[in-house]
Amino acid sequence: MTSTLIIKDAGQISLDPGQKQRYWLEVGHSWFGPERLPLIVLRGIEAGPKLVTLACQHGDEGYGVLGALDLANELDPAAMKGELWILPCANIHGFTAGKRASPYDCQDMNRVHPGKADGTVSEQIAYALHQQVFPGADLIVDLHGGSPENGDTAFAMWADIAGKPSILPIVSSLKLDFVIGSRKSIAGMLSNSAIDLGIPQISIEAGSAINYGRDNAALMQGFVRDCMKHLNMLPEPPPQSRSLPLMRMATHYAETGGAFKTLVAFGEEVRQGQTLGYIMDLVGNIAQEVRASEAGIVAVMRTGIRVHPGETVTTLAIPTGASS
Ligand SMILES: [Zn+2]
Repeated sequence: MTSTLIIKDAGQISLDPGQKQRYWLEVGHSWFGPERLPLIVLRGIEAGPKLVTLACQHGDEGYGVLGALDLANELDPAAMKGELWILPCANIHGFTAGKRASPYDCQDMNRVHPGKADGTVSEQIAYALHQQVFPGADLIVDLHGGSPENGDTAFAMWADIAGKPSILPIVSSLKLDFVIGSRKSIAGMLSNSAIDLGIPQISIEAGSAINYGRDNAALMQGFVRDCMKHLNMLPEPPPQSRSLPLMRMATHYAETGGAFKTLVAFGEEVRQGQTLGYIMDLVGNIAQEVRASEAGIVAVMRTGIRVHPGETVTTLAIPTGASS
């Protein structure tokens, strides 16, 4: 392992076969100079696909950061084919502050793609990803997931490219509880701009404070490794595809602030009208009883106690069919 290099153009990266290199990639121009993005690139001993994985577009979602760092440290490039590009922390300002959005410009990074050269810091970072990191990739794996405050069961969204083989067989082999279908595209999401680049993309949500952070990280790392196996980048055979439930999401929000007490568990089936939890004010009055808007499965849940108005307290996954 050589020392960390500071570079200004990831497009110039050229590694020897079997090499692993860590970088600080200087991008954009904030008030105090360029931003630095952490990047680790592994080149296998044989030519093959390029997979890009990034974590922490949302700064409070740290399990993917740890998973990406573990992956970078534990994977031996001499035992792989192709190139793996790992961006463990796309939103450093959000990560250091523990906030979903960048506190630097108050933007949600997953709403600013493909970014702008002269935009906000979040837009500049997104622009650099699109100009320098994503080109040539065969697959982008975008790690999201739970935080200590809000946990997830494991699920994913994916984006196919017209004229290319569907990546659903890859997605449906991952250790997921379900997949999301018919989700409306939201402007500025990485998935939309990946489609514009012609690169299939998977967004994965997983991890909660019910488990140790290291176990959530191992789960995240496993998702990327399984994708690599499908692309023939690792010697192990890929996991078998199976039929995963296809779901849509029904989110329940806090209407008031206070102390939240959940009454359900991850993966629990709930009926319409069932009390999912309640929010108390700080003298013990029940300020809001959160009831299931329809029957479903508990997919995202607040594991923290403090809640502010407008924050998610519970999201139910509603079955709509099967993935295949
Ligand atoms: Zn996220």
